[in-house]
Amino acid sequence: MGEKLGISGHTKTIALIGSPVEHSMSPAMHNAAFDKLGLDYAYLVYDVQPDDLESVVKGMKAMGVAGYNVTMPLKTLILPYLDELSDAAKLMGAVNTVVMQDGKAIGHNTDGAGFMRNLKENGVDIIGKKMTIVGAGGAGSAIFTQAALDGVKEIDVFNIRDNFYDATEKRIGDLAAKTGCNITLHDLDDKDDLRASVAASQLFVNASRVGMPPMEDQCTLEEDMLHDGLAVADTVYNPRVTKLLAMAAEHGNKAVSGLGMLLWQAAIGENIWTGQEMPVGYIEEKFFAE
Ligand code: NAP
Repeated sequence: MGEKLGISGHTKTIALIGSPVEHSMSPAMHNAAFDKLGLDYAYLVYDVQPDDLESVVKGMKAMGVAGYNVTMPLKTLILPYLDELSDAAKLMGAVNTVVMQDGKAIGHNTDGAGFMRNLKENGVDIIGKKMTIVGAGGAGSAIFTQAALDGVKEIDVFNIRDNFYDATEKRIGDLAAKTGCNITLHDLDDKDDLRASVAASQLFVNASRVGMPPMEDQCTLEEDMLHDGLAVADTVYNPRVTKLLAMAAEHGNKAVSGLGMLLWQAAIGENIWTGQEMPVGYIEEKFFAE
């Protein structure tokens, strides 16, 4: 256990902004990591509404915070107020991490990178191969964008044909042109198309809310779509073992929980702010041991 550092005039501040934020695990995870590493940082949480965002971004800069996390509903709204964006944040059109560098507010998105790092930690190598992903919302977009940037060869994205479908299709077309990844959008209602996609894939990802309450008894993959050599990953981390993951594990398929994505997106953010490696195993044990 690290010693709890006192807050002094030297303590650097990191914050989380969004609404609601009270439930967030980020303060507990980051403050414990700062203590463990002996870093003189403190992580605080502020409930911020969209109308106040511009003045909050200016205030953060004026107060000299080291950086901050951004959560819903501000992840896309913050873009015009930042000075620079990472390539991934630019392509995703969303920011979850801001670092202050030389007086500039620089936006990053670590959700997709956290997902990809967690795959690697679990021994799943999808680079140069094909994946199928259900869900093109915040988590899904971050994942398929980072996967395309990292060199996944082919990605089939399945979503409900909702009001955003055409805009998502255009965004995915732009991503294909920029990265060279063969990435396309598909209608989730077309089960034959989903079946054919999964049959040709080495990874299936659920990036929808299916699997979390009140949809904990549901699953975006039919049991008979599982095949040898298919790894299955969920973004849902509550419950930790979703119906999808339990089904995959029962059939002997590699099953990767959303908890690792949560931990690694935090670890990558912490590295951007402090240059240090977050003790991921320690944080997992401390807060998420079963
Ligand atoms: P979101 O932006 O609201 O996107 C949700 C996606 O799920 C949308 O594509 C939505 O389609 C789709 N969807 C909703 N109901 C569905 C259904 N019944 N069947 C199939 N698809 C459905 O939410 P999000 O922020 O991406 O979060 C998605 C999940 O990822 C949540 O469970 C969240 O907890 C998890 N997450 C995990 C992490 C992590 O670090 N592990 C990080 C972020 C999010 P429409 O566009 O038609 O609504």
